[in-house]
Amino acid sequence: MRLGDTSTSKLKTQIPGPVPALRVFFPTVRELRIELAFDAEYGWEPSKQVHILHPPSRASFRYPCPFAGCSGSFDLDASVRALLQAGRPGVSGSLDCTGVRPFDRSTGKLCGARLHYQVSVLCN
Ligand SMILES: [Zn+2]
Repeated sequence: MRLGDTSTSKLKTQIPGPVPALRVFFPTVRELRIELAFDAEYGWEPSKQVHILHPPSRASFRYPCPFAGCSGSFDLDASVRALLQAGRPGVSGSLDCTGVRPFDRSTGKLCGARLHYQVSVLCN
């Protein structure tokens, strides 16, 4: 098996075409604020990220792992959709990366980087 094949085909089946705008799915959402923080590791702390989404933004909530070369990403799609459908003001939680970093490719050891996320919604 060639490296990278599985992630490419997985991506294709999950995202069949361009992702529609946020307002298509959730017309009442005015602003979506997604804050991402990662646990420090080996003395390196990935910088925090803040993503602000507006009605014309793509309704895609998948963020790549911040560790160089890692094949993983954090998929907040289900959490964000559940939050918006429930009409609640926010949600927070954490996820572990299930990708593999370049120097672990031979063993297949999982990255395991921990993401802490916080999502807040502003509605009209
Ligand atoms: Zn990772």
